Amino acid sequence: MDLTGKVAVVTGAARGLGKGIAEKLAELGAHVVISDMNEEGAEATKEEIITNGGRAEVFLCNVAVKEEAKRLVEETAQKHGRLDILVNNAGINRDSMLHKMDHGQWDAVLGVNLTGVFNTMKPASQIMREQEHGRIVNISSASWLGNVGQANYAAAKAGVVGLTKTAARELGKKNITVNAICPGFIDTDMTRGVPEKVWDIMVSKIPMGRAGKPEDVANCIAFLASDQASYINGELINVGGGMVL
Ligand code: NAD
Repeated sequence: MDLTGKVAVVTGAARGLGKGIAEKLAELGAHVVISDMNEEGAEATKEEIITNGGRAEVFLCNVAVKEEAKRLVEETAQKHGRLDILVNNAGINRDSMLHKMDHGQWDAVLGVNLTGVFNTMKPASQIMREQEHGRIVNISSASWLGNVGQANYAAAKAGVVGLTKTAARELGKKNITVNAICPGFIDTDMTRGVPEKVWDIMVSKIPMGRAGKPEDVANCIAFLASDQASYINGELINVGGGMVL
């Protein structure tokens, strides 16, 4: 896979999956815009990429704020004359049982995990339509099928599936593919937040017997972003070691 000359935006790339995705795309030759609200983490990702011979820059952005997401996408395209790849990875969780979940938890998760994806996709789809080329990869989750304590998160991630498939239908004719990934249980700060007992239960449900690594997900995204995947559109791909079959 060769992404030389491609311009990619990765949201939530200061750590975890987003960092792994940004590193992989840069390793394959893309110029990567590392977007996050965490400046220190984003700068560290950038430094790592540059040290390894890649090309990267930081653009601070809260994807839940539509003006910020619009600026991220439009200013990137203006500066580089194109936007080839958009990876919507930024996400949060605010878990609680439904009867205890407050509207703050609901709004926060929907705001980042679903509206945040719309906020970048809207301007990106305009730009990609004009250039008649583009790759959008959205990060959903195996939880979209429903998960105890995650009504807000599952609803947002299911929303991402509907958004992805609709965009795939609308944009396909313009040579733009839109796909979604469902990571299973991946070893990041987000999952390290769960109690050890829950970690062991989660891993016991994975046929491959281990949590995933960010690069396991990044490899799949790199493929979807590449020319080799030019006829894969509107798919939802599980990357979870067989956790969901
Ligand atoms: P993480 O918490 O380790 O990293 C998330 C990153 O997103 C952080 O750098 C954070 O600063 C950034 N972020 C949060 N809110 C933001 C906002 N409003 N605007 C911009 N950036 C923001 O999480 P992770 O495990 O790396 O997860 C990345 C994505 O993968 C999320 O969408 C998550 O829901 C999804 N996912 C993760 C797993 C897993 O097992 N780790 C499984 C399924 C799906």
